[in-house]
Amino acid sequence: MAEKQFKAESKRLLELMINSIYSQREVFLRELISNASDAIDKIYYKALTDDSIQFNPADYYIKIEADKDNRTLKVIDTGIGMTKEELESNLGVIAKSGSLSFKNENEMKDGHDIIGQFGVGFYAAFMVADAVTVITKAHGGDEAFKWESQGTDGYTIEPHEKAEAGTEIYIKLKENSEDEDYDQYLDEQRLQSIVKKYSDFIRYPIKMDVTKS
Ligand code: ADP
Ligand code: MG
Repeated sequence: MAEKQFKAESKRLLELMINSIYSQREVFLRELISNASDAIDKIYYKALTDDSIQFNPADYYIKIEADKDNRTLKVIDTGIGMTKEELESNLGVIAKSGSLSFKNENEMKDGHDIIGQFGVGFYAAFMVADAVTVITKAHGGDEAFKWESQGTDGYTIEPHEKAEAGTEIYIKLKENSEDEDYDQYLDEQRLQSIVKKYSDFIRYPIKMDVTKS
């Protein structure tokens, strides 16, 4: 499978994000949760106008899973998912909304604190990740795909198994360094407080299994 390059603009922003000394890396979780929530909104709105789609609220949620052994954080949603083409066009380019204002501001400043102010979206994951894997199946589709990237080098897409529609994002956390303790993003209490701080208003349940200590 051929590895594809990110668009030039995306690459610049990505490098900036990965390399900036950034005090609020934790906002990556807000970005992933907001995308998960948007994906559930999309299926919800589709159901309003399409009688063939049932929207049973109990089936729609966001789930966070921390795998300490593999130092992997998962963000799972049961939203609308993505087709192969959508994966390509949505995650191959630094996207839309927040990113534009980010970019304009950034011509003058060094990136510090700007990520916290404007949502830069999906790519924020690379502030804490060595590698990001997205496994997704579009609602109504019958094929699932795996998108994988280690950052600036580009990404790969290949077929993958997934039973239900929705998206799973796997964040392979960076090794701890002098500047940052990435293990904190595997700590359930810490994750809970990040969710509370940035994602309290999300309308869908955000689930996490908590180990009793
Ligand atoms: P924005 O949310 O501002 O559009 P992002 O960079 O956060 O930009 O995400 C880019 C696009 O990738 C989204 O617009 C959406 O189409 C797609 N996407 C990201 N995460 C998900 C997800 N969990 N489920 C479905 N689509 C997603
Ligand atoms: Mg987003």
